[in-house]
Amino acid sequence: MTSETLNFQAETAKLLHIVANALYSEKEIFLRELISNAADACDRLRYAAITKPELIEKDSPFRIALTIDKDARTLTISDNGVGMTRAELADNLGTIAKSGTSAFLDQLSGDSKKDVSLIGQFGVGFYSAFMVADKVDVISRHAGDDETWRWTSDGKGEFTIAPVEGDEARAGCGVTITVHLKEDETEFTDPYRIRHIVKTYSDHIAIPITLIGGEAPKAEGEDDDAAEAPKEPETINAASAIWTRPRSEVTEQQYNEFYHHISHLGDDPWMTTHFRVEGVIEYSGLLYVPTNRPFDLFHQDRPTKVSLYVKRVFITDSCEDLLPRWLRFVRGVIDSEDLPLNISREMLQNNPVMSKIKSGLTTRILNELKKKATNEPDAYAAFWEAFGAVMKEGLYEALGDRDALMELTRFKSTKGDDLTDLKSYVERMKDGQEAIYYITGSEIDALRKSPQLEGFASRDVEVLLLTDPVDEFWLPMIGVYEEKAFKSVTRGGDDLSTIKSGDDDAKDDAETSGSEDTDRLIAALKVALGDDVKDVRASQRLTESAVCLIADEGDMDMNMERMLKAHNQLEERAARVLEINPKHALIEKLAGIAKEDGADSLQDAAYLLLDQARILEGEALPDPAAFARRMSSAMQKGLIG
Ligand code: ADP
Repeated sequence: MTSETLNFQAETAKLLHIVANALYSEKEIFLRELISNAADACDRLRYAAITKPELIEKDSPFRIALTIDKDARTLTISDNGVGMTRAELADNLGTIAKSGTSAFLDQLSGDSKKDVSLIGQFGVGFYSAFMVADKVDVISRHAGDDETWRWTSDGKGEFTIAPVEGDEARAGCGVTITVHLKEDETEFTDPYRIRHIVKTYSDHIAIPITLIGGEAPKAEGEDDDAAEAPKEPETINAASAIWTRPRSEVTEQQYNEFYHHISHLGDDPWMTTHFRVEGVIEYSGLLYVPTNRPFDLFHQDRPTKVSLYVKRVFITDSCEDLLPRWLRFVRGVIDSEDLPLNISREMLQNNPVMSKIKSGLTTRILNELKKKATNEPDAYAAFWEAFGAVMKEGLYEALGDRDALMELTRFKSTKGDDLTDLKSYVERMKDGQEAIYYITGSEIDALRKSPQLEGFASRDVEVLLLTDPVDEFWLPMIGVYEEKAFKSVTRGGDDLSTIKSGDDDAKDDAETSGSEDTDRLIAALKVALGDDVKDVRASQRLTESAVCLIADEGDMDMNMERMLKAHNQLEERAARVLEINPKHALIEKLAGIAKEDGADSLQDAAYLLLDQARILEGEALPDPAAFARRMSSAMQKGLIG
């Protein structure tokens, strides 16, 4: 096959343009990305060689060799990993196949500095070489193949792939990347600089990274710097797996860099836990909780992301059985001493060692989180904002861990802006309060203004404000906490009368709601609204507003209905109950009209009340034109008389 010039996929080209033009202060991270890819390639070959030992040549231990050449202004990164075939070169380096790419491109703001910090997250690390290069050559030979290919590009619109023969062809498998540095990027041929970058970002890489000065002849009178370039390969990293080292020998920065390496995330970890388990089963682990929500946290498949190693050999980074899905934000590495090295990924499923590790890890993470929640409540609150919605899936799914999870769950509530836990909520419950009250919706600000909360506020009864879709699932499933039932304030009959009120007006609640006038008005509204409501009732939950809607006891919660409807999961909605506030001036007035003029005169008013309640729920009106007509007519009467 001969040389072929191909175009970058449109999205890739866009990304490259952003990368190449980024005025990024930490351009050096390109080296971290290339070394990281090289290390992954070695890991993959080591794994493949478990079943096909012939793939690895004898006496050629894995290594990543860096070569600097000042005269040619190049930096070369060479590995003896799995390599890429011609097709892989075209696919991996010419297109971005990742599912998150469009999400990534959507997030690009045009602010190049911000954009580049996103790059690592989206697995587009290779392209970062174009921050410092005006040309990149990739020479590759795939393990088990005997052809060598060269991929070349200036990172603009095209790349070329050509076969390599003769001297330049690789002797063994692997990839050699030559970065042709831009004129003002010569710092990356300085051995001090390279040693420093490798120490900073890649010290955790478990295979040796060597540096050599290159073979370019030195010019006479050359400055001292050049003389420092090593003539023999010198290992410049610690070259041992970070999780095998004692905790006291690993710095925070090394932990953080390892986190970046395995997670591809741009933040620093919020929590790091490094441990060794001995006994019946043995494993070591290094686990992290990110600070920020990764962009794909709510991906439909909910994959967990902890890598599995067996006796230091990488097995897989997509192991479904190491952690429950509700801990899928956790990143890191587990290294087992008990699993056989040649275990296939399929055999991992339902493996008894795996399930022991899984439950051990789950308990460990929950314990660590508990410590954080107790010792650093503010930091824990930030964690909860980022990952609480995922943890709550566990309340629904994880029978065994439910109590521990419940203890870790935090809520927004009508009492201030801080998060609360259930234990504190229960301690604050009012005399006579039987239930834990909550309201669900999609926007916290709208929830805080819900009319259904008024009666609770006036009695100083705290209500939990829940805005995650998952809340609709776990709450009904769990139902009670410490024998107190969870109760939605937008559903069913309220039992506020048993709770002592903060204000004196409340004592006549019972009388007002049972008064003859109110009953007459309720009857009139029921006739007027017919099947559009399930019932009309006098409310105790309203103090300011005239009306609100609630779902009847036993019916689906209104927010749940809205959610299902939005996802086309629900055809018909149940009719709602309209609650009216007997003490509201408007309702009193209407009760008077019902008494004087009879029910017929209330037809328009009834629908205006119902539509008003729908608007308060944030719902679309079924007949906006009719609403506008009634509203205009009411205003006209009110304004003109
Ligand atoms: P990521 O590493 O996040 O997947 P990159 O853009 O850095 O994204 O690399 C794209 C792909 O190219 C990698 O997933 C890998 O399959 C391949 N690749 C990159 N560098 C190497 C290498 N040194 N050896 C083998 N394959 C490589």
